[in-house]
Amino acid sequence: MPELPEVETVRRSLEPHVTGRLIRELVLRARRVAAPSVAGHAAGRRILRLGRVGKYLIFELDQGVLTVHLRMTGKLLHNGAPGPYTRAIFELDRGSVCFDDTRQFGRIEWAAGLPARVQKLGPEPFAISAAEFAARLHARRGAVKPLLLNQQFVAGLGNIYADESLYRARIHPLQTAGTIGAARARHLHAAMVEVLNEAIAAGGSSISDYVNATGEAGTFQVAHQAYGRTGKPCARCGTAIQRIVVGQRSTHFCPRCQRLQ
Ligand SMILES: [Zn+2]
Repeated sequence: MPELPEVETVRRSLEPHVTGRLIRELVLRARRVAAPSVAGHAAGRRILRLGRVGKYLIFELDQGVLTVHLRMTGKLLHNGAPGPYTRAIFELDRGSVCFDDTRQFGRIEWAAGLPARVQKLGPEPFAISAAEFAARLHARRGAVKPLLLNQQFVAGLGNIYADESLYRARIHPLQTAGTIGAARARHLHAAMVEVLNEAIAAGGSSISDYVNATGEAGTFQVAHQAYGRTGKPCARCGTAIQRIVVGQRSTHFCPRCQRLQ
């Protein structure tokens, strides 16, 4: 599933092609992708800016806001050829953008302003200081891994970057958040910011079929040190990376470097 770095990569690759463009028509080719009224709201509107909040892409229009959530397999492809998985097409005054989505969990919404679900998101790791993050973490009782996936706690991380951040910070995924001391919490904050920035610089991670808006894959998957490396040696100590299930999500960690404390 695209996480913050992948969505940011899509945003950066799409932005020059859509900023200032007029949406002549938004063609909806699947019932689930958007409410029928979304097409009416989008038609004839100009795209002023393409932003991102957490894993959501935000098309700021001259009237209202289109929010696109790629979810599992959604892709926005500039001048893509429509195919069997094309669920919507933005026909612009110059070029087009196809919204392709094999699994059909992706959504396009229109609202007069930012939708409530986006407003409710927690801060992105970049947007808060290490001290603020430590204080937020200290107040929570649950295990740290599910908390990092909770978009209302911190926005943008999914399974890959949560595992990679905990690995870098040497924190066990089941460690109770509130028991993580201030120094280790600051270390975790730094790890998240570092992992996300490195992943954005690498164009994201292409695990299944993720590509950016011009069809290019990311390369950060080769830098993963925990995620998807079950049984492979830890880069720090050589111990086999272990896989456990936490909150129904597969979780990868080094049992030696990331001990419960
Ligand atoms: Zn290790």
